[in-house]
Amino acid sequence: MGTPLASTGEQAEEVVNRLEEAYPDSTISLRYADRLELLIAVILSAQCTDERVNSETEHLFEKYDGAKDYANVPQDELAEDLNSITYYNNKAKYIRSACESIVEDHDGEVPDTMAELTDLSGVGRKTANVVLQHGHDVVEGIVVDTHVQRLSRRLGLTEEEYPEPIEAELMEIVLEDYWQQFTHLCIDHGRATCTARNPDCSACVLADICPSEKGDGEVDLASGDPW
Ligand code: SF4
Repeated sequence: MGTPLASTGEQAEEVVNRLEEAYPDSTISLRYADRLELLIAVILSAQCTDERVNSETEHLFEKYDGAKDYANVPQDELAEDLNSITYYNNKAKYIRSACESIVEDHDGEVPDTMAELTDLSGVGRKTANVVLQHGHDVVEGIVVDTHVQRLSRRLGLTEEEYPEPIEAELMEIVLEDYWQQFTHLCIDHGRATCTARNPDCSACVLADICPSEKGDGEVDLASGDPW
């Protein structure tokens, strides 16, 4: 079990510094060429791997060009085009409906405010944050996905359980300049080392400051359960 720094702010800063050194090229792994493709890729990525999404969108983005195309395609056809993605029927519905709103209410352009984005079908705060950050260069918050959720709790940065309160707490302790990068660093570390089921604490650059470290630590603070 490691010993966290005195305050959660210092702990967050140290986590960012060390992970930046470990993952200097950390960035979004979804592939897209414009804002609409980004929005669609992020909707598809819910509970699905980025790798799977990238392989499916390769042909999707060749077939469809612009919000009108998605808004006008029959539901069954779009669902069929997405059939290797988890929950593809629902996601096809979200995409068609979001694209109808984009065509009707936003002149075919992906909106650039949190309120307008979260009004779109299938778009919650997490998706909106990604689109704002990577599509519009607007950083309004911190994207809290499953890796950010797990690592923030394991590292003692928050005791909150759900994404929105976790995001609010992280925004208090992570320096604003790092709000975007914090997510990518957690995702890279969550994939490489601090995996959900079997984190490799012996190879972790955060082991000495991590209160969940398995060496002689007893509890995975992400779940609250014993290791
Ligand atoms: S791999 Fe282990 S030591 Fe590293 S952050 Fe995860 S739980 Fe903590």
